[in-house]
Amino acid sequence: MKQLESIYACLPEWLQDIAVTAQGALYCRQRFGAAFREEYALLKATEKASALQLELLQVSRLRRMLTHAAATVPYYRQRIPFAAIPALRAGDWAAFQAIPVTEKADLRQNPNAFLAGGRSPRGAIRWNTSGTTGTPIQLVYAPGSVSRQYAYVECYREQAGVTRFDRRAQFTGKMIAPGEHNRRYWRYDWASRALMLSTVHLDETSIPHYLKAIQQWRPRYLTGYPSAITLLAHHALRDRRFPIEIPAILTSAETLMPEQRDLIESAFSGRVYDQYGQTEMQSFWFECRYRRMHAHPLFGVTEILRPNGQPAPPGETGDVVLTGLINTAMPLIRYRIGDRAAWSGDDRCPCGRAMPMVEVIEGRREDYLFSPQRGWVGRMDPALKGVSGVLECQFIQHRPNELQVLCVAAPDYSPLARIQLEKNLLERLGDQMRIDFRLVQQIPRGANGKFRTVVCYLDREPFPQSSGREVPSR
Ligand SMILES: [Zn+2]
Repeated sequence: MKQLESIYACLPEWLQDIAVTAQGALYCRQRFGAAFREEYALLKATEKASALQLELLQVSRLRRMLTHAAATVPYYRQRIPFAAIPALRAGDWAAFQAIPVTEKADLRQNPNAFLAGGRSPRGAIRWNTSGTTGTPIQLVYAPGSVSRQYAYVECYREQAGVTRFDRRAQFTGKMIAPGEHNRRYWRYDWASRALMLSTVHLDETSIPHYLKAIQQWRPRYLTGYPSAITLLAHHALRDRRFPIEIPAILTSAETLMPEQRDLIESAFSGRVYDQYGQTEMQSFWFECRYRRMHAHPLFGVTEILRPNGQPAPPGETGDVVLTGLINTAMPLIRYRIGDRAAWSGDDRCPCGRAMPMVEVIEGRREDYLFSPQRGWVGRMDPALKGVSGVLECQFIQHRPNELQVLCVAAPDYSPLARIQLEKNLLERLGDQMRIDFRLVQQIPRGANGKFRTVVCYLDREPFPQSSGREVPSR
């Protein structure tokens, strides 16, 4: 792999475009095969099915997955009693809820124990997690499961008014534009009709070039990290040389903050549709045109749990626990993903889907900061309220009462921004917090190009209890 990367880096740009296109063609073959068509047909037929019909389908998939895991996955052989599986039925989940929760650490310690039959199947696809918060884990996908996943992606795109055949621009964390020659920070994937934009080179000086490339490409939709798209939006609103209209902006992989959504929508006169999933392939949550986040019941079982392991009622934030129904090569049953969320109180969405709705997704556990006065505090977006002239901010914590703030200034930055930001931070974290503020040119991305607002090096156990938490509106 490393060898291929170094060969790629030596190629002239036009050959790199061909290499990216060849990779794109390979992805298309992986994604849109027979399993895609089968799953897509099922999704179309059940899009407006009743809650009971969906639950019946979900339970039948779940029983099959539990039987498969109990029979073939070393880790689950002792943990899932065969006899309990028939007791699981629509409306009666007690037998399922009695299965112990799988922690991330269990998977990290011994990933091979989660492989069906103790090994990867023929034709399996392997993927390494980014390892931003520990050792990367090699995940194994069954042949066909990636294809099935893309049926969900396609339906999500369609309800946003676009398809895989439309021109798109897409941010990627991969090093697709090595070196800095010619300021061309993107490559063309002609097979997928995609302009692939690198997040690696994204900064104040390169942004106008990105905007020009997008303007010339005229994409019907833009996909990628909210942080990267927000940087573009900031600039596009100030610099009127590049008026760009993009009907749909599909964000994923990071928590989308309300301010980011507003900014992106006004910059590109389009609509943002957020999506939530994981490399572990455990769930597919997507936003419909009424801005409700639906958890697709055929992709995975979503549970939101209180600290005592009981299901959290609507409106109460709890730990997200997922059971994927798609990937048979590496089943994860009742897997605590590390994110926190709350169920919506509504049981019906105007879009007509009877799929359960998630009201609020809080950042990952890793995204919490510690305050000696307030304990663990999540969601740092309120800290940026009323702060103008700031492009990006990162909060780094090494000690309980100290916070380092890295800040990339916009041209209209003034010291007032710093004063406001520090005031907000002290309000949120308590006035005993010492703040070390630094202006920087660029904030480095983590592995996979993901931007992290919070980098906290403190020991996070035990995690705070969630009962009685205030649910922020989304
Ligand atoms: Zn809806």
